[in-house]
Amino acid sequence: MRGLDDRVLITAPTGRDAANAAEVLRAERIAAVVCPDVPSVCRLAGEGAGALIVTQESLTTETAGCLLSLFLNQPPWSDLPLILVTSGGDATVRGLSLLREFGVNSAVTVLERPLRRLMLVSAVRAALRARERQCQVRDLLSQRDSMLQELCARAESLEQSQRELLTAKETIARHAEHLEQTVRERTSRLVETNAQLEAFSYSVSHDMRGPLRAMLQYAQILLEEQTGMTAEGRVYLERISRAATRLDRLIQDVLLYSRVARSEMPLAPVDLDRLIQEIVQQYPEFRPPRANVVMQSALPQVVAHEASLTQCLSNLLSNAVKFVPPGRTAEVRVRTVQTNGTVRIWIEDNGIGIAPKDHQRIFNIFERVHSPKDYDGTGIGLSIVKKTVERMGGAVGLVSELGQGTRFWIDLPYNNTYEPYLTRGR
Ligand code: ADP
Repeated sequence: MRGLDDRVLITAPTGRDAANAAEVLRAERIAAVVCPDVPSVCRLAGEGAGALIVTQESLTTETAGCLLSLFLNQPPWSDLPLILVTSGGDATVRGLSLLREFGVNSAVTVLERPLRRLMLVSAVRAALRARERQCQVRDLLSQRDSMLQELCARAESLEQSQRELLTAKETIARHAEHLEQTVRERTSRLVETNAQLEAFSYSVSHDMRGPLRAMLQYAQILLEEQTGMTAEGRVYLERISRAATRLDRLIQDVLLYSRVARSEMPLAPVDLDRLIQEIVQQYPEFRPPRANVVMQSALPQVVAHEASLTQCLSNLLSNAVKFVPPGRTAEVRVRTVQTNGTVRIWIEDNGIGIAPKDHQRIFNIFERVHSPKDYDGTGIGLSIVKKTVERMGGAVGLVSELGQGTRFWIDLPYNNTYEPYLTRGR
């Protein structure tokens, strides 16, 4: 209990009741304050008290009203104990009636005179114990209130954080949506531009071939039919014819390159064995005496677009037999290695080789390591291979050093529905 909550306020305006009672209580180590009248008791009780001792004689209409207002103004946890001292009999009845009449419903204990020390002490102790429990309730309530306040503050700050989180989420979502929209727009613009460029390059290349072929044919006619032409004139005409042929090849290759991007490439099982044999049979430069193309026997099936794969393998074989030092016969080996659902097709030559610094760039369109004076070509073949293989879901690469031959490889999915020819190699 707090300091003022365990004091006993006593009033007995006549006689020695108050002084005696206070003395007895103090002897029992109970704080006791003697007040001159009931209003003073009520005033002090407002500041804090453990119990009140009031004599029946001090109760009048006015003082009972004073007590009533004290009890009515108590907080909900409080039920201040009142000990009424009477002379017994009618006096007790009168005192209690007056209190009841004024609506004082507190815990009233009646002590009748003569006041015995034991009775007084035990009544006061009982009253103080009751008051102590009330004060404990008061402290618990106050603890609960401060906990509630803290909880409310935390809930408020939690709500604030949630609101901030929600705002942040909304902002992020808006940014993401904006970003996606920008990406969608740019992608569609890029796709459109790409398609336009491809259509443009296709039609330009296609339309250029007509006039070029006319130039070639007229140059040919002049060479064959104009017998009176000077030797110098013939040389110029032959140069025109060679340049036109070269330009025609260049246009054809560009056409081919743009077709790779435009055309559909439905994939199906392709028998590598048969395909490579057909390619070798078709082109004389892949056969002796110009070159020796050796095929590992029983190559497996792959999943590819046959026409496009034919183009890729022809390009790689053409390069393999072309890029050899003068006077050397090209020795080309074709073999496969199978790993985890992938077939790696190796095309290995004994040619001039490629320095590692050039390995990446030769797959870009028009990139060449060697001059067309030494080795004829347009610089488009490998870019067609790369684009085609990637569109078929595969990959392409090479292993080479300058002067040590070149080994190109193509990875393609292995056809599982076909009885596998397991081939192992380097
Ligand atoms: P092209 O053969 O028409 O020049 P490619 O795109 O096929 O064009 O090849 C690009 C360049 O890569 C070639 O010009 C050549 O310098 C180099 N290259 C390609 N294949 C080989 C090879 N097997 N051996 C040496 N160099 C090669």
